[in-house]
Amino acid sequence: MRSFWILGNQLSHELEMLKQMKEDDVIVMIEATSRATWRPYHKQKLVLIFSAMRHFAEELRDKGYTVDYQEADSFQDAWDEHFKQYQPDEIHVTAVTDEPMAKKLKQFGKKHKLVEHADVPLFYLSKEEATETLGDEPWRMDRFYRHMRKRFDVLLEDGKPRGGKWSFDAENRKPPKKGLSFPSAIHFRPDAITKDVIEKVESTFSDHPGEVTPFHWPVTHTEARRALKRFVEERLETFGPYQDAMVTDEPEMSHSLLSAAINIGLLTPHEVVEAACQADAPLSSIEGFVRQILGWREYMRAVYLAVMPGYEEVNTFKHERDLPSFFWDAKTDLNCLHQSLKPVVAHAHNHHIQRLMVLGNYATLFEINPKQTSDWFNEMYIDAYDWVVLPNVLGMALHADGGKLATKPYVASGKYIDRMSDYCRDCPYNPKHTTEEDACPFNALYWRFIDRHEERFSKNQRMKMMVRNWQGRDDDVKADILAKAEQTLTDSP
Ligand code: FAD
Ligand code: SF4
Repeated sequence: MRSFWILGNQLSHELEMLKQMKEDDVIVMIEATSRATWRPYHKQKLVLIFSAMRHFAEELRDKGYTVDYQEADSFQDAWDEHFKQYQPDEIHVTAVTDEPMAKKLKQFGKKHKLVEHADVPLFYLSKEEATETLGDEPWRMDRFYRHMRKRFDVLLEDGKPRGGKWSFDAENRKPPKKGLSFPSAIHFRPDAITKDVIEKVESTFSDHPGEVTPFHWPVTHTEARRALKRFVEERLETFGPYQDAMVTDEPEMSHSLLSAAINIGLLTPHEVVEAACQADAPLSSIEGFVRQILGWREYMRAVYLAVMPGYEEVNTFKHERDLPSFFWDAKTDLNCLHQSLKPVVAHAHNHHIQRLMVLGNYATLFEINPKQTSDWFNEMYIDAYDWVVLPNVLGMALHADGGKLATKPYVASGKYIDRMSDYCRDCPYNPKHTTEEDACPFNALYWRFIDRHEERFSKNQRMKMMVRNWQGRDDDVKADILAKAEQTLTDSP
């Protein structure tokens, strides 16, 4: 007989290897305590994975499969048990993208006959197709995305992009207006299985960060599909225009909250894109959303495959400061950080612009060590996996790879945060001040960053305006700003 090992982020009924199973084959699923402590993961991340695994095992049994579901201290302990009972001739797995797990499987493959299957449809592209589509450097996401639209025939009319252009990004950057509110996302109530898992996580992983309840994430395919339906029917319309906006106590806005489900196989990226394409919503919202999944998600995964191993250590700017402790409890008087960190502690999630333009921006301007920053993202988010964290954090948010992934660093002063959010209104700092006592700390640090990397960015098309702006200032003005920046770093935790 043969065993088919399904990992906690491969919970799809569409897995290609399932189609090859014969009557006496067995599915193996392992809830390993040691895997859950590879890192101090947010408690809700552990609840999601264990609960979704247990639900998936039930669904597979209902379909007639034999499932050996093991709660064990380690993968090895579980396999020892499994071998005692079944003595399989071969072990089948679906390919993994994350390097740490790929290494584990390689070791495992030295002892046992391992047969690997492609990871489509967890992604649109297999690993080989992803690196092939990415092509040679310099990499460009817009080129990659156009290729994906054509290859998978998405939003095309007679081979041309629907609406006459490939991207409606320029229409999707509206600042929030006063009184803006959004249709709410579905929050799911934990069932008996999830409640059991919450108890286990509370007792076994009590030293892990984050709140364990209220837990509202979808843990089954049915729940994930309900969340998708609500999103395309009621929330996609406002996703487009306010994609980059941030509003106090609105951590969800019109974002889909589907990444956690997509990344563990509860939804295939194909079904999410198809549902969006059929929605009754403006094309700019539909295209804006499709671009995130068919474009950014696949692009990030392709870059990860091309740059690993080694990428986890990049630190172009040689930033070495420690990540402050308020990243774990949101206790800071910088209101934009407080507003962005609160939902992470409570639900292991916040939206893209908070991740990029508040937290990533903070880490770059406050010169935080990139590895500490990416470790924090990897541990604290419900949707975090190596393949998606490293390119997004090290490449996109911190520019720590020197520009391999993105053509410019996403740094901004307090003025940007003030324009795109209502956070500054309730902050003790003033986004319009740079050197005054109450100046927003992002402002002087922004100019310190430009000053320190003047030479590098003077040749960058998208940065050279800011470099010229800095160079055109009087020396004594520059000295005051740099002194304020130095003081800000000395005073910050
Ligand atoms: P929506 O705003 O509704 O977007 C729709 C979907 O598009 C998401 O569900 C996701 O599947 C996909 N998507 C959008 N942008 C990206 C992207 N840049 N990379 C990959 N997929 C994307 N995404 C993760 O899935 N896991 C992470 O750990 C993660 N870490 C991030 C860290 C930083 C610093 C940044 C800047 C981005 C990160 N992202 C990550 C990408 C993005 O922020 C999240 O996918 C998104 O916020 C998830 O919420 P949502 O489902 O409501 O997304
Ligand atoms: Fe953030 Fe500065 Fe605005 Fe305060 S003033 S919320 S620190 S950007």
